[in-house]
Amino acid sequence: MHTVQLARRDLLLATASVAGGLAMPQIMTRAAHADLPMAGVKSPGFKRFRLGEFEVTTLLDGLRPGDGPHPTFGADQPAEVVAALMEANFLPPDKFVNGFTPTLVNTGSELVLFDTGLGEAARPNGLGRLEENLIASGYTPDQVSIVVITHMHGDHIGGLTGGETPAFPNARYVVGQIEYDFWTSPDRAGTPAENNANAVRSKVQPLADRMTFIAPGDDVVPGISSIEAFGHTPGHLIFRLDSGGRQLILTADTANHYVASLQRPDWEVAFDMDKARAAETRKKVFDMIATDRLPFIGYHMPFPAIGYVERLDEGYRYVPATYQFDI
Ligand SMILES: [Zn+2]
Repeated sequence: MHTVQLARRDLLLATASVAGGLAMPQIMTRAAHADLPMAGVKSPGFKRFRLGEFEVTTLLDGLRPGDGPHPTFGADQPAEVVAALMEANFLPPDKFVNGFTPTLVNTGSELVLFDTGLGEAARPNGLGRLEENLIASGYTPDQVSIVVITHMHGDHIGGLTGGETPAFPNARYVVGQIEYDFWTSPDRAGTPAENNANAVRSKVQPLADRMTFIAPGDDVVPGISSIEAFGHTPGHLIFRLDSGGRQLILTADTANHYVASLQRPDWEVAFDMDKARAAETRKKVFDMIATDRLPFIGYHMPFPAIGYVERLDEGYRYVPATYQFDI
């Protein structure tokens, strides 16, 4: 009986598709000969999920292709060793794409943005898309109530202002005291940190009267607490989200390449200001994330930048998140 019903339904479907497809051969023929332009539409620039009572959105600021990962990653290694690790992971040996992903957290009473992307200076190169993708995701810049800066490199502070105007006009700011003091110190003059210190002076310092300065361990708001992750920069902070019994770590720039930095956490990274300390922090943070099986968002992980790590004999394997937050 069951078989007969199925067969009858299949027959009906087949009949329907024949009826619906009568005009198809002609359409197919035309399409095959048409000059059909590519849509050229970029992939969606945001990803949203629930974490307990929080709503979390990762926002793509942009993707930047370039040479590497060597020597940006693994400068202390032979180039062939880095290339071989890339090829073993199905990646090109001498090119890589760096992604930039700020995160927005709606706690129900505050809209908290972590980092601000590269900003207007990068727009001619197709980056600096944070504002565009924030709007596409259903929010507006004036709804952001708190901007948290994990550290003060240009790809995190560039979007704080547009021209002279704050990009998030109603926000207050939460920044690490150590990080702020380092970059605004006159001692940076004449050092390799001088250029970035100048960027901090123009992008960050004018907003100082709206800033709350925090130390590691301090809360941003209830359910969002900071964790010390020094090394990448002197005051680099990461954050733990905790809502409704679910947790997630925002690792910022603790690891900057999902293969090189996670599988070989000891390899030197050009962006790490204190390379030994950054490697120590990387191992400590990802050991905790692996042991506690926590999800994390990494600012430079492949978009949408949400995943887990599995411990390997050496280092960790990045495991992108799939439907864990949809159920
Ligand atoms: Zn960065």
